[in-house]
Amino acid sequence: MAASTPDAPATLRHLSLRYHEFDSPDHLSPAERQVWEAARAATAHSYAPYSGFHVGAALLLEDGSLVQGTNQENAAYPSGLCAERTALFGLGGRPSPPPRIVGMSVAGRPATGDFTPALPCGACRQVMLEYEMRQGQPIWLLLPSVDGTVLRFERLADLLPFHFSPGDLPPRL
Ligand SMILES: [Zn+2]
Repeated sequence: MAASTPDAPATLRHLSLRYHEFDSPDHLSPAERQVWEAARAATAHSYAPYSGFHVGAALLLEDGSLVQGTNQENAAYPSGLCAERTALFGLGGRPSPPPRIVGMSVAGRPATGDFTPALPCGACRQVMLEYEMRQGQPIWLLLPSVDGTVLRFERLADLLPFHFSPGDLPPRL
């Protein structure tokens, strides 16, 4: 049976993604290197007895301070939370408006062994993006690649095209 031909042919569109790739963290700027190392250091405080995968996240704020987060697991598995969100929610829950976030990084490693690629999950990307939208200023992101290189994204929005945003919600009565 022949495939049907749509009345209105679809248009094939392409999506491109720009990011920088560094051979090693040695080529990062001092501020980027600081965030990169802070994310790795945070993994020491992860609570990951079930997955055995220790994740750390670090945020660099406009005032130069750092905020770290780690994955926090729970015997009731869905009750745990990723490192990116513990960092962001800890910052967002402060009593006074915090300084804006300039950049962030994520790192992960098994309980014993070296660091491995640790990319933000979909839920974290959604949360990260809303923090970027709220502050109206891009947040750069450093991620470790499978090849051992460092990926630098200029803005979190690039990680989640076709995202859900506050504008997608119906107006409140
Ligand atoms: Zn996550």
